Amino acid sequence: MVWTQGCALACEGCFNPDSHAKANGEIIEVPALARQVNASARASGLRGLTLSGGEPLAQARAVAHLLDRLDPALDVLLFTGHELAEIRRSSVMRAVIARCDAVLAGRYSAANDHPFAGKSLLLRGGRIRADELTPHHIIELVVGTGPNATVTGYPRRKTWTSTKN
Ligand code: SF4
Repeated sequence: MVWTQGCALACEGCFNPDSHAKANGEIIEVPALARQVNASARASGLRGLTLSGGEPLAQARAVAHLLDRLDPALDVLLFTGHELAEIRRSSVMRAVIARCDAVLAGRYSAANDHPFAGKSLLLRGGRIRADELTPHHIIELVVGTGPNATVTGYPRRKTWTSTKN
């Protein structure tokens, strides 16, 4: 997974505000990042790369260069807050999409039950299937001996309310 830093889309209720400022990230040259990704994928037997942010298409040119250097055996999934119509109007964003196997596109809405809900799914080729990107509501609840518990995953709003209680 590669998280790019910086996002100016300002979705209401964004769950990742720390990713907005451009200055919060670590600067890495594209060829070095590509080498790291390819080496990690080989070492761990990973099937692909997921790009998220922040907003990956805010650095579309660099991301396109990264994907050009990626091992072609790896599939690519892109999460973006841009709508497909916005992407289609930008040649540099289209260049990224042309290198992706799957794109989940569109603004996040806190009103939805899951971060994927309401997004458009674009699939290219057959390496990533639609059912792999169906929103799931699996959660892990860790309860210790103290007063706090940790919840990870995407609970439905109803589950979340009863879990908190
Ligand atoms: S695109 Fe993602 S990071 Fe950017 S504001 Fe929307 S939810 Fe937050």
